[in-house]
Parts: sequence; structure tokens; C-alpha cells
Amino acid sequence: MFNPQKNIKLAPYTTLKIGAPAEFFGIIKTKEDLKEAILWAKNNKKTIFVLGGGSNLLVTGRVKGLVLKNEIRGLKILSKKKDYVLVEAMAGESWTKFVNFTIENNLYGLENLFLIYGTVGAAPIQNIGAYGVELKDSFYSLQAINLKTGQEKIFKLADCRFGYRDSIFKNKLKGKYFIYSVTLKLKKKAGLKLSYGAINTELNKRGINKPTLKDIVAVIMEIRNSKLPNPGILPNAGSYFKNTEVSKKDFAALLKKYPQIPNFPGEKKKIKIPTGWLIEQCGFKGKPLGPVSMYEKQALILVNHGGAEAKHVLALVKKVKAAVKKKFGLDIKEEINLI
Ligand SMILES: Cc1cc2nc3c(=O)[nH]c(=O)nc-3n(C[C@H](O)[C@H](O)[C@H](O)COP(=O)(O)OP(=O)(O)OC[C@H]3O[C@@H](n4cnc5c(N)ncnc54)[C@H](O)[C@@H]3O)c2cc1C
Repeated sequence: MFNPQKNIKLAPYTTLKIGAPAEFFGIIKTKEDLKEAILWAKNNKKTIFVLGGGSNLLVTGRVKGLVLKNEIRGLKILSKKKDYVLVEAMAGESWTKFVNFTIENNLYGLENLFLIYGTVGAAPIQNIGAYGVELKDSFYSLQAINLKTGQEKIFKLADCRFGYRDSIFKNKLKGKYFIYSVTLKLKKKAGLKLSYGAINTELNKRGINKPTLKDIVAVIMEIRNSKLPNPGILPNAGSYFKNTEVSKKDFAALLKKYPQIPNFPGEKKKIKIPTGWLIEQCGFKGKPLGPVSMYEKQALILVNHGGAEAKHVLALVKKVKAAVKKKFGLDIKEEINLI
């Protein structure tokens, strides 16, 4: 029988190591556990919040209702076709373990997404992305369970409305579904994307001109380890903000004032400006405010130097947002999820 614990502190379950207690907290390992938890929440009139690896989360205060930590694991190859293979992962599986599994099976598509923290089930929520590749590029379908009714539903690619760090699960269906499993369509033949970030440069340095999947993940591991703080050493949740998309017209005006402004193509003919650069220009890179700061090597990442609480994070975020607005006239938006 599902029997959640009361008043469990969430900080240890997040990579930022910040978090007040949840009213109720339970760990689920099977679909039966999940169905029982949904029934318990219904009978006790509690809302459910699904927790994966806590690597994209700021717990801003005491969490009312039931926090369900998802540990439903498993990976399997569903079917093999001439050019592609369908692979299904249960939502509580580690994303990195999943990518490793696809690499071991010589399947292409997820290599650039190697070493992203968290669980498979959270990946569609913000359509995770790195080095010019997004989850949606290999997405086939997902199975979800309605958190109120327990009903199961399949979402195909178009249903998920994926965008830049965005999906229907961050908007219209926010908090409505438990993502139970994700199926990806992975290629048997190479279709590598190497031009983004420092991938090509690193491969050249190593004298590799025909990279294998293992070469790519080795290079990505090196790039990520050199740039991103390890949450086990310096707690953080990756990029705190999204990059900032502006219209061509607004970008032209900014370019006149700041000719050195970095940029790359965004969605719907917009231009993306690295928000880390905007924050850096406002003098926040590596500058502490109490126990938190924007990371000294990458100003997009907010780090907890020890003992930080949500109020410290929110105070820094407020200052950063106001400074960027004042200097550039731009509203920067959170990538992180707040509860
Ligand atoms: C050092 C570092 C680097 C990172 N780099 C990247 C990067 O390159 N690209 C990138 O896109 N992200 C990156 N991230 C962010 C993060 O790893 C991803 O967003 C990841 O998908 C979050 O997974 P999680 O299991 O930890 O989710 P959580 O933080 O636990 O949850 C995030 C959101 O998803 C919801 N959720 C989680 N699981 C489910 C489920 N099964 N069903 C329904 N809702 C669910 C939660 O309710 C919450 O709203 C990075 C994070 C860190 C710490």
C-alpha cells in the first residue's frame, strides 16, 4: 500500500541542494506504485508534483501536497527497422545511462546530449538540448499517465509542441501528466552534428577526422567538464535562464549599440542572444551575493557556494533580471522550474 512520509526536506533531492520540506513525499518504483499514489492523492485531496533527478528545479518554499520521486527504471529496444531502431526508456532511468545504452548499441542521435543530468522522464518537459541537437530530433512518442484520473495516453511528436527548452508539458499540460516512458527513433547510420560549440575543434586537436560515437562522447565529456560546474562539488541546476530570443528588428537596434553582441539563429526567424553574455556584461559573472553567484566560467549558471536558501537565489535573480533589463531593455526568462 502506498504510504508516503511526512515533512521530508527536498534539498538533498535537488542538484542545487536547496529545498524546504514537502508535506508528503513518496518514492515509486513501478507502475503499480504510481497508480496507488494517484489513488492516495485523490482520496486525500492532494496535488502531485513529480520529481526526477531535481537537476532543473528550484524549490522556493514548503511544498504542499505529495512529491513523488520517480524511480521507475528500465531500457529496451522495441523494434529494429532497416534504417532506424525504436528504443524505449522508462522515465525514472538516468538520462546519461540511456545515452550510454544507445552508444553501446551503435545508435545515432543522442550523442550530443551526453552527460545532461536528470531522468529520461524530464527530458521532454523542456525538450533538452545541447550542441545543436534537441530531444525532439530523435523523439518518437511518450506514454503518460493523467495524475488525476490515472488514464494512460500516448503523445506523438506533434502532440508535444516542442520548442526551444519548451513543450506542452511546461504550458497547457503543466503538472497534469506523469511521463511514464519515452520512445526514441535512433539512426543506424551516422548523421553527426559536429559544427556546434567546440566539438570540431576538440576533434581536430585529437587528430580525429572520422569520429566514432565514442570519440564524440569523449570530446563532449571533456568540453562539459571544462565549462560546467559539477553539482556534486558546486551545487547548481545547469542554465538558470534560457537564451534570449529577439526579433530581427530589435536585434538590429541592439547591434548598433553593441557591435560585438554574440548571436545565432533562433526559432521562427528570431535571433538568439546568449543570456550568459548579457549577464556577464552587467558584471555578475563570478560576483557573489551572499552564498550564491552566477558561475565564474559561465554566467548563465547560478551556483550555491554552501548554505544557500531559495531567498538568496531569488534575490540574485531579481538583481540580474533588473540589470539586464536596464542595460539592454531585454526580459530574460527562467529555464529552471520553480515550485
Ligand atoms: C550541470 C548541469 C548541466 C545541465 N545541462 C543541460 C543541457 O545541456 N541541456 C539541457 O536541456 N538541460 C541541462 N540541464 C538541466 C537538466 O539536467 C535537464 O532539464 C533534465 O532534463 C532535468 O531532469 P530531472 O530528472 O533532474 O528533472 P527535475 O529537475 O526533477 O524536474 C524538472 C521538471 O520536470 C518535471 N518532471 C520530471 N520528471 C517528470 C515525469 N516523469 N513526468 C512529468 N514531469 C516530470 C518536474 O515536475 C519538473 O517540473 C543541466 C543541469 C545541470 C545540473
